[in-house]
Amino acid sequence: MADVVAKPSDRHHVVVIGSGFGGLFATKQLKNADVDVTMIAKTTHHLFQPLLYQVATGILSEGEIAPPTREILSSQKNARVLLGEVTTVDLEARTVTSEVLGRGITTPYDSLIVAAGARQSYFGNDQFAEFAPGMKSIDDALELRGRIFGAFEMAELGALRGEDVDHLLTFVVVGAGPTGVEMAGQIAELAKRTLKKDFRAINTKRARVILVDAANQVLPPFGSRLGHWSQKALEDLGVEVMLGAMVTDVDERGLVVKFKSGRTERIDSLCKVWAAGVQASPLGKQLGEQSGAPVDRAGRIGVNPDLTLPGHPEVFVVGDMISLNNLPGVAQVAIQGAKHAAKEIDGRLKGKPSGGPFKYFDKGSMATISRFRAVASVGKVRLTGFVAWVMWLAVHLFYITGFKNRVTAVMHWFVSFLGRGRSERTATEQQIFARSALSRLDRGAADLVSPPGYYDSIAEQAEQDQRERLEQNAEQESRLTDSGQRGVSVG
Ligand SMILES: Cc1cc2nc3c(=O)[nH]c(=O)nc-3n(C[C@H](O)[C@H](O)[C@H](O)COP(=O)(O)OP(=O)(O)OC[C@H]3O[C@@H](n4cnc5c(N)ncnc54)[C@H](O)[C@@H]3O)c2cc1C
Repeated sequence: MADVVAKPSDRHHVVVIGSGFGGLFATKQLKNADVDVTMIAKTTHHLFQPLLYQVATGILSEGEIAPPTREILSSQKNARVLLGEVTTVDLEARTVTSEVLGRGITTPYDSLIVAAGARQSYFGNDQFAEFAPGMKSIDDALELRGRIFGAFEMAELGALRGEDVDHLLTFVVVGAGPTGVEMAGQIAELAKRTLKKDFRAINTKRARVILVDAANQVLPPFGSRLGHWSQKALEDLGVEVMLGAMVTDVDERGLVVKFKSGRTERIDSLCKVWAAGVQASPLGKQLGEQSGAPVDRAGRIGVNPDLTLPGHPEVFVVGDMISLNNLPGVAQVAIQGAKHAAKEIDGRLKGKPSGGPFKYFDKGSMATISRFRAVASVGKVRLTGFVAWVMWLAVHLFYITGFKNRVTAVMHWFVSFLGRGRSERTATEQQIFARSALSRLDRGAADLVSPPGYYDSIAEQAEQDQRERLEQNAEQESRLTDSGQRGVSVG
């Protein structure tokens, strides 16, 4: 049973689901509106996903790309933040039910902005996830960091034992979109530059980095010219680009790809990265079932042109969850959609006419290949190489949340791009194996804590017992000192 949380006041109450680009920008946009805002998200941070690959490859720390939402919103008086995974949205009752470690709460709303984003998609092969983590969360990035650096460590040990270590020094990135390209480029730089002097039994420069994609081009959304340029730049870096190759199986020791001709090939590789496809939050399906809005194969919900749900003008859906006019799943769609929804809610309360349909302004897209090399597509302009890389640097610096994160990110970029170091190579065994261990528990982490209410029932007795124990201890300590028994041998 979930407890119902009271509205903060009599004012119009906006509930925002998610603390990503959509959720955070919607909440901030409502700063001066005459509303209370409750942001509910399943993590306590706002995640800057475009730089996850730099956390995975030891360039940035997780804190630099994931500042606490509570801190970001600390001076926004009309906003409160609640930790919780939203399990149910009840459109009729106008409530949102969320849960943390088996403890549920239900929050009523007057307006709702849903920005729960997307998760990794394995195209119906979820069993691949255990052996090829995706790139959607801090957990993913830290697990991958452990796996990447761990593979070099295992190779060093294997080489000392006289074993074949080729599979340990083969890294496969699945998906040649921006994330896959950036990841493959960085693993190659790690092997060829950063780690080249750190090992004794292996030559890290011999590591193979393979970028696999079922499509026939790298970076399809960037067009064929930038795609070819990027492929050439990756190959110059030593990355093997394998196109037209669909992954049909993944296991602990490697993966199998199938080409159009029907030929299959097995690649032995301990460390695989999955950067191939996303599936919208399951909340989209739930909203579709209740409102009758269509939901596409990627789980994205068809919204009205003004981003509201059919039949529910009080509910907006923004960002990666929506299917509207072929809008791409990029940060700007989420940010601009969130601002549109927030302005619409504010306007309605002020009695202003509706702003009409959501209009997306495409600010362009960019991807890095390696240090000093990137591609950028802005309007009709196509940039490659150093100029695009400087542009990438400036844009990402601008959008990283928080001044101190910007300063430390710049310092870490100096270390990695001008030097050959990586400031964040720390990885632990738990980062690699904790997720898999948790998944073997029936209810995940909830199995590791007491059930709700457990302590309330025993709290009074426990407090009494503890008080008696503390009093007895204090009495004994004092008596030993007063009677001069300290340091006296008791014979
Ligand atoms: C590795 C990577 C690299 C990318 N690079 C770029 C890039 O270079 N440029 C670009 O424009 N875009 C990039 N993107 C895409 C961009 O990050 C997304 O389009 C954007 O984050 C979408 O914003 P959103 O608010 O819809 O979702 P998200 O930012 O994903 O936020 C979703 C939020 O909802 C929360 N949530 C999810 N489910 C629940 C639930 N049930 N209950 C409560 N909270 C929930 C999540 O914890 C999160 O806070 C990248 C994405 C990835 C994964």
